[in-house]
Amino acid sequence: MSKAYVTLLTNESYLPGALTLAQKLKTELKTKHKLVILIDSSALSTESIDLIKQVYDVAIAIDDDLINAPLDKLVQRLGRSELSITFTKVLLWNLTDYDTLIYLDSDTLPLADLDHLFEEYKDLTAEQIAASPDAGWPDIFNSGVLVLKPDADVFSKLLEFTTVDNNTFDGADQGLLNEFFNVASAGKNWVRLPYVYNVTPNYSGAYQYLPALHRFFSSIKLLHYIGQTKPWHAEDILGTDFDNLHHYWWGDFNKFYAKDATLKAKLLSIPKGE
Ligand code: UDP
Ligand code: MN
Repeated sequence: MSKAYVTLLTNESYLPGALTLAQKLKTELKTKHKLVILIDSSALSTESIDLIKQVYDVAIAIDDDLINAPLDKLVQRLGRSELSITFTKVLLWNLTDYDTLIYLDSDTLPLADLDHLFEEYKDLTAEQIAASPDAGWPDIFNSGVLVLKPDADVFSKLLEFTTVDNNTFDGADQGLLNEFFNVASAGKNWVRLPYVYNVTPNYSGAYQYLPALHRFFSSIKLLHYIGQTKPWHAEDILGTDFDNLHHYWWGDFNKFYAKDATLKAKLLSIPKGE
């Protein structure tokens, strides 16, 4: 049974992230595993789909299966209506061709090889999830980096779970997945990944614990650019706001996509989501 990295892309606005993520895993970190992407192909241009197929091994169209979070709750609780499709992450459990998946948000940037996680978490059960603590509330996991086992039974339970009112306390997938894998089992089904696998430096605009960031910087395995403004939305803040670590993403994006100035300009002109 195979293993794969997987991400989610429901529109053009996260395309620079999804491309840079895959290039990083493949050309630089040289993963031996497949790269899979769930896409809403109806929301992507053929040119974008071509770019995706150049670097992802498998692109799965989920156009008919997008699962929306209750939009009113998202706006009210997070002010982030663009996350209404993130319930779609539930579809990961339906990818039963794979026995283990490492799911990465498309706004993540691995700095080190992550392949060893497949080996380390091979005994994870389908009822469990491995994820790092959220920097804002460490008793909750952040849903941007997940190790999981696809499973038909868990998938149908999760799907059912999405239809019940108030099963997400933040209105998005993180609240939903935490209720299911963490809160419901009093924490037992959440296997903690170290924080270095999902470091969220731009939390609330500036990193919260700078001495630790400096002390442990060299052990960081992955940066996750949470929040509404992703690195590719804001080249102008480069250099002025060092702690958000956007320059790491820019260094890689430029390495992979700057040779073609037209393509670079095109990727960066994609408007931010709603
Ligand atoms: N996503 C997407 N299109 C959207 C919103 C989200 O493709 O309009 C995907 C993308 O992979 C993204 C993930 O869903 O990384 C979760 O959203 P986001 O990273 O913005 O949430 P945050 O990490 O800021 O909480
Ligand atoms: Mn994210």
